[in-house]
Amino acid sequence: MIKPKKSLGQNFLIDKNIIDRITNIVAIKDKSILEIGPGTGSLTKSILEKNPKKITVIEKDKYLAELLNKKLNTEINIINNDILEIDENYIDNDKLTVFGNLPYNISTEILCKWILNIKEDNFWFECLILMFQKEVADRIIAQYNTKNYGRLSILSNWKLKIKKICDVKSSSFYPKPKIDSSVLLFLPKLDFFPLNDPKSLEKLTRTFFMHRRKMLKKSYNLLFNGNINVANKLNIDLNLRPQNLNFETYYKLSKEFENLGS
Ligand code: SAH
Repeated sequence: MIKPKKSLGQNFLIDKNIIDRITNIVAIKDKSILEIGPGTGSLTKSILEKNPKKITVIEKDKYLAELLNKKLNTEINIINNDILEIDENYIDNDKLTVFGNLPYNISTEILCKWILNIKEDNFWFECLILMFQKEVADRIIAQYNTKNYGRLSILSNWKLKIKKICDVKSSSFYPKPKIDSSVLLFLPKLDFFPLNDPKSLEKLTRTFFMHRRKMLKKSYNLLFNGNINVANKLNIDLNLRPQNLNFETYYKLSKEFENLGS
């Protein structure tokens, strides 16, 4: 029996219905697959049954990577490494269909890293199918004027189309986590708003949402040195709160913020 490691966020999926549901979201046949954190291989086996062209898995836990190597080494390509250490743009020449029941403690870090690292419109993936804590998923899919709206939704919606597939009860995992999860599907957005430096969007949203309940005025003045022109041009009422500006306005603001420096 495997002893799950808390430090690596190991909560293994044991619910066959959920596993099947996840591997039925998109067509897998003849696709090149990447799985992050395969663990004991429950998703991996279900993916294999659907005849992909190939599967690469990235597993940080040496012990689990070796176990998978014994069980499935002729069928999958195993990389024993930390996903955060890998440049995802160079994993494969094919566009990848990505699966990940990610460790909770690094799931948002991975998603943000991937979004910020997409090279212009050169998406390295065809789609991402990822599991998140339900409350994190709710923040990712949030629309403006709601309490969950914030940096994660604005950053995710910039380059990705997002669809919630389902919630997953905590009893679907071993060991059972304290909270429920949700599965999200992400697809490349080809008509995303062009920015020269994604870091501008990150900085801008970080500054605004640090004071989520305060009026926009204070953060705006900090970012734009008290110059009201941009707010006027974009028709922004600075008495509103950060959650009241829609996606497009944040992208336009970031563009203006970039222009300040040039
Ligand atoms: N996909 C499996 C396991 C999920 S648990 C299932 O659904 O049953 C999360 C897995 O991610 C574990 O196997 C853990 O060892 C692995 N993991 C944790 N941090 C990682 C990292 N930084 N890079 C790659 N894998 C990681």
